[in-house]
Amino acid sequence: MTLHALTIHEAAARLQSGEITATELTQSVLDRIFTLDNAIKAYLALTPELALEQAARADRARSDARRAGAEAALSPLLGIPLAIKDVITVEGVPCTAGSRILEGYIPPYDSTVSARLARAGAVLLGKTNTDEFAMGSSTENSAYFTTRNPWDLSRVPGGSSGGSAAAVAADMCLAALGSDTGGSVRQPASLCGVVGLKPTYGRVSRYGLIAYASSLDQIGPFAKDVTDAALLLSAIAGHDPLDSTSVDVPAPHYAAALAQTGAGSRPLAGLRVGVPREYFVAGIEPDVEQAVRAAIAKLVDLGAEAREISLPHTELALPVYYLIAPAEASANLARFDGIRYGLSVDAASLWDTYRQTRGQGFGAEVKRRVMLGAYALSAGYYDAYYLKAQQVRTLIKADFDAALRDVDVIACPTSPVTAFKIGERAADPLSMYLADIFTLSLNLAGICGLSVPCGFDRQGLPVGLQLIAGAFEEERLLSAAYAYEQATDWHTRKPDLELTLED
Ligand code: GLN
Repeated sequence: MTLHALTIHEAAARLQSGEITATELTQSVLDRIFTLDNAIKAYLALTPELALEQAARADRARSDARRAGAEAALSPLLGIPLAIKDVITVEGVPCTAGSRILEGYIPPYDSTVSARLARAGAVLLGKTNTDEFAMGSSTENSAYFTTRNPWDLSRVPGGSSGGSAAAVAADMCLAALGSDTGGSVRQPASLCGVVGLKPTYGRVSRYGLIAYASSLDQIGPFAKDVTDAALLLSAIAGHDPLDSTSVDVPAPHYAAALAQTGAGSRPLAGLRVGVPREYFVAGIEPDVEQAVRAAIAKLVDLGAEAREISLPHTELALPVYYLIAPAEASANLARFDGIRYGLSVDAASLWDTYRQTRGQGFGAEVKRRVMLGAYALSAGYYDAYYLKAQQVRTLIKADFDAALRDVDVIACPTSPVTAFKIGERAADPLSMYLADIFTLSLNLAGICGLSVPCGFDRQGLPVGLQLIAGAFEEERLLSAAYAYEQATDWHTRKPDLELTLED
């Protein structure tokens, strides 16, 4: 098997046995990127020299540890080549957030997640494409270019973390980080046929994540399988004094917990799975519904008990999200003023510098959200819009709290549709907003969710099953998804990219 196609845990085993080196592994993934990324366009920036230097350092660390008999203490991420969404800072590596306004910005500090990955000895391949400031569901809002779905290059990879999802699906990294404010890890994971996890709010530090909507943003892993998602989550999770919203609860060793998932034919015996009535409604593609219902039947085969539940305020999630997220964005994006970061347009007065830098530096979707948000927060409208949205947010959270008293996890589609054509929704913001209809309510409630591949539509495009659990119950998600994955082979399917290579 070619090295770039390995999962993290497969590569870690080969690195440990001495069969391969981190340098060979990294070179294989870089070669893959050099052949494919002209067609897929997952990366905004590559860091090949840094990657090879980190790989060489990982190889040295491993041989030192071997000599000292200390190999058991090495991180499973030592020497593993990864990608990071370009809304997360890495010291000294350009960071654009997919926006012209940050063109040329080189962050002087590491995000906590990238510092933790570096400490574990992981290798950074580059920064992946994103909708501008993570606003979107297709990467079409990137100011630079649109990423293509490896399963069909005429289609979107989903978004906003579409670059990370496409890079994982096309074996242009072993795994990647994204950020999820309303679905931006889970939805592209679903559209690209990989695993994506949005941790509980506060599980992972947001320090060094360029803020979109601070009460909703979380960083999460993209991976080729559930075990890898667990490994990556363990590496980045946990309290951080630099982020006052990160919560001080111990981060379990998620991958080790998977090994304890019951074996035999009924590993999910006793698991109560809720199926929300409101998530199987008009607008969902029949092939998606069929694949997700079959996946739920599989969970039942594996011992789980499925029951219908209700999340009565579901239809209010979209309007609530599109008041709260833009309101927070309008405040967060005020810092891009042409003085402190990136682009600065020289103008006659300070006001003109602000105006022209923001006018030229932000794209249409960002401007739309800043205006919506500033309006919802303005005197006279605050009570009617923002405050009301916060009140309804509480009701949405209460729906999940009530449902999760009776069931352990909730199962539903990640996205109502499979990957859509580039351009199909770009001109219609509302139809784009609907792409996250099944994911954004979790961010409003602050709980965790995961998307795992569960089949294909009749055009051969991947479908994802979303599993949802309560706050800090990532272990439940991972072990249910792991049992499902063990019993199915969807996650082993790969897009046929030979044609692309021949073009
Ligand atoms: N599509 C949603 C939005 O545009 C979610 C994006 C995200 O999770 N970053 O806000």
